[in-house]
Amino acid sequence: LDQVVQSKNHLPAETKDGQVVELQLNAGLVIDHTEDRGAHHGIGLYRTEIPFMLRDRFPTETEQVKLYSDIFARYAGQPVVMRTLDVGGDKPLPYFPIQEENPFLGWRGIRITLDHPDIFLVQVRAMLRANVGLNTLRILLPMVTSIDEVDDAIRLMNQAYFEVRNELQEEGERFELKRPQIGIMIEVPAVLYQLEQIAQRVDFFSVGTNDLTQYLLAVDRNNPRVTRLYEAYHPSLLLALDSIIQVCQRLEKPVGVCGELAGDPGGAMLLVALGYRSLSVGGHNLDRIRWAVRQMDSQRLGQLRADVLQASRADDVRRHVRMELERLG
Ligand code: PEP
Ligand code: MG
Repeated sequence: LDQVVQSKNHLPAETKDGQVVELQLNAGLVIDHTEDRGAHHGIGLYRTEIPFMLRDRFPTETEQVKLYSDIFARYAGQPVVMRTLDVGGDKPLPYFPIQEENPFLGWRGIRITLDHPDIFLVQVRAMLRANVGLNTLRILLPMVTSIDEVDDAIRLMNQAYFEVRNELQEEGERFELKRPQIGIMIEVPAVLYQLEQIAQRVDFFSVGTNDLTQYLLAVDRNNPRVTRLYEAYHPSLLLALDSIIQVCQRLEKPVGVCGELAGDPGGAMLLVALGYRSLSVGGHNLDRIRWAVRQMDSQRLGQLRADVLQASRADDVRRHVRMELERLG
């Protein structure tokens, strides 16, 4: 099967009746890039914290420009969604220790960078500089919980933009600095109820099912004692995902999924059935997901959507998904 899957990896991810699903890559490590065989639409999630975690101090602006330039060069012409630093929680920086009783409910992601605008500004400035003349950058904000965070982050990003633009003019740069598209992660349940207001402020959304599952179910994503309860097929999570796609379709706001659910054939099928048309997955999952999408058709997907949205238990959802996967072959 693997050979069949790989031999078709130049084909578009398209259902039997022509529904196109845009596939992108999750990245953060150099090693991620060796895996990216087959067609895709660029990087849907570049986790900038990973290169930060592999150092013994904060990278300077110049070092970050180099880091991000390498990524843009590798994916020339394709969009690259760079997420601003998402440390805290389970992702410590050796040179920025945080001691907390509840790290996942604590100082994490945008909360840290808004408290340290210097870190945020340097990072955004480096992204903008690396993107000069290319314009493939999109900036994604992690762990957003409130409108104020969105507004504060946009204010800082504007500041970085004007600073860099003026500097480039003084340096005689011939390319005009374009404003990147800006999006937020949907991973804290609170934002589900403010999507309309946030949509007026940002260009796109990206659903982080890893954290959305953890926060919606109040289950630590890394605690082995409660692994059984960390349930990506929980009916409440499906209803949340359904509500997000419906709001985004109504508002015509681009939305994709970059959590691990998207990189699992059953999960990808569920997401496509719910209406998602943009998935960002690990390079090693790309061919499998493309293959799964190519086996689907709208009628079966509609039936699957109806079945899973009526299910009262994760096991029932799983059964429907498994039956459908078996039918695909
Ligand atoms: C997520 O939460 O689903 C996500 C993609 O981000 P991370 O796994 O880096 O927290
Ligand atoms: Mg997350």
